[in-house]
Amino acid sequence: MANPVARIDLDALVHNYQHASEACGCPLFAVVKANAYGHGVLHIIDALREHADGFAVSRVEEALALRSHGIEQRLLVLGGIMQAPEINFAADNSVEVVLHDEKQIGMLESWKGSDKGPLGVWVKIDTGMHRLGFAPAHAKSVLEKIGSNKNLKLVGVLTHFANADDLSRETTRLQLAEFAPFMESAEETSLANSAAILGWPEAHKGWARPGIMLYGASPFINGTAAGDGLKPVMTLRTKLISVHELKQGDAIGYGSIWSCPEDMRVGVAAIGYGDGYPRHAPSGTPVLVNGKRAPLVGRVSMDLITIDLREHPNAAVGDSVVLWGEGLPVEEIAHYADTISYELFFRLTGRIKFRYEQAP
Ligand SMILES: *Cc1c(COP(=O)(O)O)cnc(C)c1O
Repeated sequence: MANPVARIDLDALVHNYQHASEACGCPLFAVVKANAYGHGVLHIIDALREHADGFAVSRVEEALALRSHGIEQRLLVLGGIMQAPEINFAADNSVEVVLHDEKQIGMLESWKGSDKGPLGVWVKIDTGMHRLGFAPAHAKSVLEKIGSNKNLKLVGVLTHFANADDLSRETTRLQLAEFAPFMESAEETSLANSAAILGWPEAHKGWARPGIMLYGASPFINGTAAGDGLKPVMTLRTKLISVHELKQGDAIGYGSIWSCPEDMRVGVAAIGYGDGYPRHAPSGTPVLVNGKRAPLVGRVSMDLITIDLREHPNAAVGDSVVLWGEGLPVEEIAHYADTISYELFFRLTGRIKFRYEQAP
């Protein structure tokens, strides 16, 4: 069989967590939203269970899955709550929630409370991302409302950076300045995502929220995992299922967008956009054949890609093809495919077999 396989190196994950923890010197909510960035959330939380200070997800139902799996650490729901039953669930399971909108405050004001104790809330302050959060001018009254509601416990204030991945931009400093007046307005604070953990020491206050760096991809626009002290967690691999000799001028695949410049060997590997490999990856995107680079040629199909094997005279059917991971940085593939590593991970489909590896 030549099904594509994603090998998940759980030791690399733990290494990356520890690297985040040391880089920032503060407690961490490991961000495991969206199925742990496509890596398989239950395996990821099991591997981090003994290390993580807490976990963060986007939605209440994601937090439910973690509690049902026996996670006892603090859990933070970044997207907050949208419906009344979610409030009860969060309170009954000691899940902390982020408040970012007036509508949520209204819902909480008419909430009857839980006999398991107050609901822990974090208030999100919009310091310049302009996505979620209360404007600084308005945040003070929100904090007062929450402080005076006996069904709630104001746990912390947080904010999120729009451009921490670009060290040359001034916006992170401006956002820090907007946030400064709120540093003492609750017991806890949380500012840093992966990029701020690695690149903005001024943001190392309170709890940090590393996501992408845990999975071993650089958060920076031109960064590399190795340059940031990270180890790739996912290696996506398949096999050559055909190798043949084509003639000069032979066009390859749908649309015949690439033609052989000379008589040459071409390989066909079992992976395509139906598995989540990006369809728009252009000719020239590298893969590793038996550990050595080779360029993709022609269009990516649903189940197959075609590879220029001119530099691989011995490549044969059954040989290993790596799409990204160990030896081939995912950031580089993301660059070719005009996207970011986050999206490449998320887009893998249910056809990919995941194999989890951890040293005993
Ligand atoms: C996703 C997310 C993070 C993690 O971001 P990375 O860039 O993956 O480290 C942190 N905070 C919030 C609010 C998020 O939504």
